[in-house]
Amino acid sequence: MPPRPDFGPKPRLGYAGSRIERAAELRADRAALEALAADQRAGTYLIGGEMIVAKKAASLNEPLFTMPEARAIAPVSETVFLGFIDGAARFGAGIAPAAAEALKARGEFLVTDLRSIAVQGLVDADHLPPIAEAKAVLHWHTRHRFCPNCGAATLLVNGGWRRDCPACKAEHFPRTDPVVIMLAIDGERCLLGRSPRFLPTMWSCLAGFVEPGESIEDAVHRETREEAGITCGRVAYFRSQPWPFPSSLMIGCHAEALTTDIVVDKTELEDARWFNKAEVAAMLARRHAQGLTTPPAVAIAHHIIRAWMEDEVSFG
Ligand SMILES: [Zn+2]
Repeated sequence: MPPRPDFGPKPRLGYAGSRIERAAELRADRAALEALAADQRAGTYLIGGEMIVAKKAASLNEPLFTMPEARAIAPVSETVFLGFIDGAARFGAGIAPAAAEALKARGEFLVTDLRSIAVQGLVDADHLPPIAEAKAVLHWHTRHRFCPNCGAATLLVNGGWRRDCPACKAEHFPRTDPVVIMLAIDGERCLLGRSPRFLPTMWSCLAGFVEPGESIEDAVHRETREEAGITCGRVAYFRSQPWPFPSSLMIGCHAEALTTDIVVDKTELEDARWFNKAEVAAMLARRHAQGLTTPPAVAIAHHIIRAWMEDEVSFG
């Protein structure tokens, strides 16, 4: 047996491990939320569509504003009460994407997308989960201004955690879309694929939305078969990750491949192939001869692949 590879300490998974105490019991209390927003210790994340606004700083940028600061910077469309961190309230405030874009011209602000912020470590990593929470809920608001049941304009209630329809009385709640992301394993080889959207050197796990009526296992089986023509057997859940692009929950799994002949679905993937452990080790360590890489450590795919490399996968 070759020695177990040593990739050093495990990096933190992006957007996961939130320190937020959501305090859902306060959501319906408008007076309490207004008092919290006015509190000196409260902090608000300012989000315009895909763009996050932060105050530029020499080292780590500061993504928290006071609510009055946020409102002075640009017209705020919706606010969401995210909860507390160490007793201080956290809010998300939505502004128009065009307003965020316009702030780029002002030298004091960093205005960029959340992927760049996470991958480049542009803010303290503890901010990523609440920013993900705020971004996902604010995106939901922009798409639910009208009732899907009757078409009337809906109203934000419950601290941003519900929209009510005054016409038909329907209540609408923010939702998150489950996505399975899996590594199919054939002994000492694993299956990686490339989407045309990836950087040219990056290979990753296959992934796809869970469809209505499917279990996680069903979705893993279907997606692996559809995208790569591989039939899988046992599925082992690994861990999950909020993925606020716009509002998914990535469900990380390992799957036991029962077949090995790959048929790539070219509408979904540019390519897919088997990788042995030596090649994947070089990719994880960023020293692959052709420069191939796995996804960055903020993404769950990196952790799914690394867990297999470190012999942590068990199908029970
Ligand atoms: Zn309605």
